[in-house]
Amino acid sequence: MAYAYDDQNIFAKILRGEIPNDTVMETEHTLAFNDIRPQAPVHVLVIPKGAYVTFDHFAADASEAEIADFHRVAARIVAEAGIGPGEGGAGYRTLSNAGEDAVQEVPHYHMHILAGRPLGRMLQPA
Ligand code: 5GP
Repeated sequence: MAYAYDDQNIFAKILRGEIPNDTVMETEHTLAFNDIRPQAPVHVLVIPKGAYVTFDHFAADASEAEIADFHRVAARIVAEAGIGPGEGGAGYRTLSNAGEDAVQEVPHYHMHILAGRPLGRMLQPA
């Protein structure tokens, strides 16, 4: 089934400049900004500028350039925040919610980068 993209979602409005955001990094294909309701001292959202609904939509349909740029931006954010364990940081978590069971709030693909406190185990029991 193809994904239908709702261009009225909040991140589409941010990308069009209709709603302000606290930008962390911007490139040709990617925007990263601070989450409005941070759940950790570092809580950055990385989004592609293209109209993709979920991770699988993006990974299947985006160009190589978009996919590479997205991940390079995420890596640069980790490096600049000093949270990467390879560089002596205390670590971080990336996550992406897709659809109903994952309680995806905004239907524009985004990766959360969370860090700055112990984050606990990956999932709570159902
Ligand atoms: P999801 O549940 O879809 O994975 O996460 C959506 C995230 O977007 C939430 O963490 C929420 O706090 C964040 N968010 C929702 N609306 C806005 C907004 O207008 N600005 C910013 N910066 N973050 C938002």
